[in-house]
Amino acid sequence: MLEDNEGFSYPVVDKNLCVDCGLCEKVCHELKPYERRTPLRVLAVINHDENIRSESSSGGIFSIIAEQIIKDGGVVFGAKFDNQWQVTLDYTDSIIGLSEFRGSKYVQARTANTYAMAEKFLKNGRKVMFSGTPCQIAGLHHYLNKQYDNLLTVDFVCHGVPSPKVWGRYLDEVARDTNKVISSIEFRNKDNGWKLFNFKLFYTENDNTYFISSCHQQNHYMRAFLSDLILRPSCYDCKAKHGSSMSDITIADYWGISKNHPEMDDDKGTGLVFVNSDKGNAYLDLSKCKYKDTKYSDASNHNPGLGNVTKPHMNRKKFFAVIDDADRVCDLIDKMLKPTIIQRFADFLVDTKDLCYKQWLKVNKTIKLLILQFNNVDNMDC
Ligand SMILES: Cc1cc2nc3c(=O)[nH]c(=O)nc-3n(C[C@H](O)[C@H](O)[C@H](O)COP(=O)(O)OP(=O)(O)OC[C@H]3O[C@@H](n4cnc5c(N)ncnc54)[C@H](O)[C@@H]3O)c2cc1C
Repeated sequence: MLEDNEGFSYPVVDKNLCVDCGLCEKVCHELKPYERRTPLRVLAVINHDENIRSESSSGGIFSIIAEQIIKDGGVVFGAKFDNQWQVTLDYTDSIIGLSEFRGSKYVQARTANTYAMAEKFLKNGRKVMFSGTPCQIAGLHHYLNKQYDNLLTVDFVCHGVPSPKVWGRYLDEVARDTNKVISSIEFRNKDNGWKLFNFKLFYTENDNTYFISSCHQQNHYMRAFLSDLILRPSCYDCKAKHGSSMSDITIADYWGISKNHPEMDDDKGTGLVFVNSDKGNAYLDLSKCKYKDTKYSDASNHNPGLGNVTKPHMNRKKFFAVIDDADRVCDLIDKMLKPTIIQRFADFLVDTKDLCYKQWLKVNKTIKLLILQFNNVDNMDC
């Protein structure tokens, strides 16, 4: 795997060793995506255990499913921080080990050798729960190329994964210097409520503990992530969405819960669960949570991750073209997220292609007239 200048890793074939078997292309999800599926059941869910829910990003449903697998003697794969605070997939077979997997980490996780490890456990007859992004779950199914009764796969509704390089640069800037030691990071801290979640980072300096905390709308890294500035290119053309990862269960945030089922909203986190298979149904122990059946269409109206693919931010290319020359990545994010008026027009024109043709012509004409008027003004930005 080789990292490109955006910080994303890609497989590179060693032509000297390649025997041209074509297997890598046969198992590539990008080239051979699975079919889309609609869920069998859709639920709003809240874990009864308040401590676990507060450590989780939404309703804490991941932990309910994972604990059951561990109690049955199985192993759970999930995403955790490594010693550089980058994110990697790993496994645990203890309930306590699950705490490292709890909470969303908004960085692309390395798959490392987890597919091979999972296969070994499966062949030895151990129950395996494998959780990850939809593309990681699709990749696992292609890799195994066989159905295992003892495998349960869980993915989440995914907006896209940001660049590990930008994350590393951000950390260097805000919290890494010789005297500071980062002790924990929460992308979805709920101190101000689930909906107005905070990015929170704890560090120690001269034996004292400090923290940096900012609402997601103010935090540089979260703004870059949520504005689609720093996602992996394949996320803008995701082939693993809408059930096509072949996961048994999909978990997500139930944004819009206050409108659809206000009795399930206390602003401490409500999960949205899609049961995609009979196996998923069998593993979901609803006695551990408060739940309500809900409609897919009601839930999807409020969750952009459930829509069609994410569109790249208009300055994405520019951002990565200059990132290596930028002294401070936070300053560069500020600059890129403030598009000029002309860029806004251009973006608007692209969006209006979704309108019917006649409307589009009208909008187009109006904008052309506006641009002509602007041309008579010295400073176009004013
Ligand atoms: C990059 C990313 C984008 C997301 N986009 C959306 C979205 O658009 N809409 C939406 O509703 N929900 C999205 N989610 C999912 C959401 O943030 C919650 O994880 C989900 O609601 C489950 O919450 P929980 O409370 O049940 O469990 P939690 O304890 O919060 O769930 C943790 C689970 O997420 C896995 N995980 C965490 N970080 C990563 C990572 N970097 N790579 C792979 N697996 C990871 C863990 O292994 C574990 O399985 C996204 C998550 C990530 C990591």
